[in-house]
Amino acid sequence: MKKCFITEEKAREIASRYPTPYYVYDEKGIEDNFKELLDAFSWNKGFKEFFAVKATPNPVLLKLLRAMGCGVDCSSYTELLMAEKLGFSGDEIMFSSNETAPEEYVLAKKLGAFINLDDITHIDFLKEVAGIPERICMRYNPGGDFTLNNRIMGTPADAKYGMTRTQLSEAVRRLQAEGVKEFGIHAFLASNTLGSDYYPALAEVLFTTVKELQEETGAKFIFVNLSGGVGIPYRPEQEKNDIRLIGEGVRKAYEKTLAGTGIRIFTEMGRYVLGPYGMLITKAIHFKHIYKEYVGVDACAANLMRPAIYGAYHHITVLGKENAPCNKVYDVVGSLCENSDKFAVDRSLPEIEKGDLLAIHDAGAHGYSMGYNYNGKLRSAEVLLRKDGSYELIRRAETVDDYFATFDILPEFKK
Ligand SMILES: *Cc1c(COP(=O)(O)O)cnc(C)c1O
Repeated sequence: MKKCFITEEKAREIASRYPTPYYVYDEKGIEDNFKELLDAFSWNKGFKEFFAVKATPNPVLLKLLRAMGCGVDCSSYTELLMAEKLGFSGDEIMFSSNETAPEEYVLAKKLGAFINLDDITHIDFLKEVAGIPERICMRYNPGGDFTLNNRIMGTPADAKYGMTRTQLSEAVRRLQAEGVKEFGIHAFLASNTLGSDYYPALAEVLFTTVKELQEETGAKFIFVNLSGGVGIPYRPEQEKNDIRLIGEGVRKAYEKTLAGTGIRIFTEMGRYVLGPYGMLITKAIHFKHIYKEYVGVDACAANLMRPAIYGAYHHITVLGKENAPCNKVYDVVGSLCENSDKFAVDRSLPEIEKGDLLAIHDAGAHGYSMGYNYNGKLRSAEVLLRKDGSYELIRRAETVDDYFATFDILPEFKK
């Protein structure tokens, strides 16, 4: 059974100041989970997590993570600027981009970030626009299918990211000639994985590749970046990944290939670090009885897009009715003029009444950040529930003025 980190009473208290829909995050859950992650990889002295900013680009949450030793993985100019403003620098920033714009490389280089090259052609491009740093990372795409226990977990051959194995060898040689002294390697081969075998299997691929590349070229590797892809149990019947087992699996692979090298392990988890610790709180405002039973809520796909674009399951708790029998079947829908705007289809829930607050679970990563303004919808507020039970606004809701701001070139909208 999935539990909510917020009570109905607290959710209503927040709603009286910051109207629904709003996002709420759980400081305690975030901290406990992050400590477990650090613990699971503590066998590797140089271990560092670089939180994937795109998953939850909130300054207060990024600072909370930084205080626990977390870095950031940025993918764009704006994310790099945000990291800089928050005091992240050099070794705390990974820059994993693709189809990169010149000014992005310039800023990444200026900040001293680890630059993760998506393609071999970016060597010349980076050289031309920003210069080649002495330390660099390369993104690997091994092609084919990525399988675990006969299950296909991803198809790297269809993914636009990374370099082929042959290109990696060539890239190392070219980069050495450009004065690079220290290398890292990165790959992201499967998304939202459950079970404890993804990172260890990926680690084995990358560790072996590092060993080969070192033998071939004499290059010095200082880190292996396992990227993101560790999943969370969105469905109530799924189990949370055992991060200890995952860390242990990576350790075993390390002992086999890289023992004694001191090569650092990096990760770029987004979903695993924040996903379960954020929820979208929304109010039931309409009921409709046609061929199906609909509950209309005040949030929509513009607040949380995953159900609409991936058909993703997000668990829903009706606050205050946690223990009531789920004896009704509803489609829980938002207000977009778009039939995919459904948070749940044929979901068994307790009987919902007007004004009930619904908590949509596991929205702490790839939730708010994927929001958009379709139908003139405005982005919601974000609130942090502190360990002591207090709460704090960590991003205000958008206003109509924010939406109109880019029309200020026109007389009707001049401020
Ligand atoms: C999206 C992304 C991540 C984070 O992925 P999760 O699924 O949130 O773990 C990490 N690294 C890169 C390069 C990404 O694009």
